[in-house]
Amino acid sequence: MTIPLAPILPGATIGFLGGGQLGRMTAMAARSMGYDIVVLDPDADCSAKPLASKTFCAKWSDVAAAQALARMADVVTLEIEQIPLATLEAVAAITPLHPRAGAVHIVQDRARQKEWLVREGFPLGAVRTVTSAAECSAAIAELGPSIVKSAHGGYDGRGQVRVQSAAEGEAAWHGVGGGRAVVEQFLAIREELSVLVARSARGDVAVYPPSRNHHTHGVLTWAVVPGGFGDALARDAMTLARAITERLDIVGLLAVEMFVLDDGTLLVNELAPRTHNTYHHSERACATGQFEQLVRAICGLPLGDPSVAVPGAIHNVLGDLWTDGAPPDFAAAMGVRGVRVHLYGKRESRPGRKMGHLSAVGATADEALARVRDAYDALRPSAP
Ligand code: ADP
Ligand code: MG
Repeated sequence: MTIPLAPILPGATIGFLGGGQLGRMTAMAARSMGYDIVVLDPDADCSAKPLASKTFCAKWSDVAAAQALARMADVVTLEIEQIPLATLEAVAAITPLHPRAGAVHIVQDRARQKEWLVREGFPLGAVRTVTSAAECSAAIAELGPSIVKSAHGGYDGRGQVRVQSAAEGEAAWHGVGGGRAVVEQFLAIREELSVLVARSARGDVAVYPPSRNHHTHGVLTWAVVPGGFGDALARDAMTLARAITERLDIVGLLAVEMFVLDDGTLLVNELAPRTHNTYHHSERACATGQFEQLVRAICGLPLGDPSVAVPGAIHNVLGDLWTDGAPPDFAAAMGVRGVRVHLYGKRESRPGRKMGHLSAVGATADEALARVRDAYDALRPSAP
């Protein structure tokens, strides 16, 4: 039996590796719970900076800067998994790091993550790790129409190339950077969902009901809870996500993206050991939002209730909506009943960059989703 650790109580300092929008929103939750915040990010002007007592501007490979952050913090967590193992281990040698470095190391490399999932017996589509153009072409010849994804650094559909035949293998492999990559069979996806799991330093677990997610060109467009998947599928998805979290020995959050195929098969797509874009609705829809839940988990506090209190949805707002630097019509979006605008404080808009999101609650999931979609349409009144 493990003796529960003493909780890290309000008044303590939480260190964040990463001060983008996820760090910013977690910092807001932590601040409202009475914690102090310190942040490390390569961008001196990062989104979480206004929330932090101190911001270290340094590269992820800067071990000394990470150690300085760790020395100021009672506990450290992260919003991005692409942090070198040496940096994570240096932090963990000074102060508790959640999730643990070894789990982040497995997840941060797409090939290593998928090999781990296969080895542990979790259900996955057909996938091959490749390290050369020839291996890439051979994998496509074996699997048929596929997606080639770089092992490192890809997100929001970046670092991915869709291919039909082995003839495209060489160009695809170079197209994703020409290093380690995975080739995944192109799946007949009926629905996409995710399940967020919280596990505390005390070993308690809270599993959120599945979110229904919609992607466009590999980027999340909207997400809604309850997902309306039916009891059996929801239960299977929640059981699967919980099992992966416990097997990885995660303390903090793990988001598990999943696919439901046309024949009803449930497969894991990918893992994220942190807060997740598909659960931004939890802040309004669930009894406990994901940002507060992360703070509770890493501080060894009782986990909050993850159940849906009111149907809720989010719609992402990407930089594409800024024309010549001019922002879209947020006032119009706020005119839609139940809608709230969330902006990440990023000064520079770029096509594809996540600038913010819209959230809404409603009497039903359909109503909440319709509201964020109406609000999104209101952002660009001249759009066709
Ligand atoms: P990212 O790390 O960029 O989120 P994902 O692997 O989750 O990358 O892919 C992004 C999206 O692309 C998925 O949510 C899904 O819509 C689509 N996708 C990814 N892999 C496959 C696949 N094997 N078959 C069909 N569609 C896929
Ligand atoms: Mg994904």
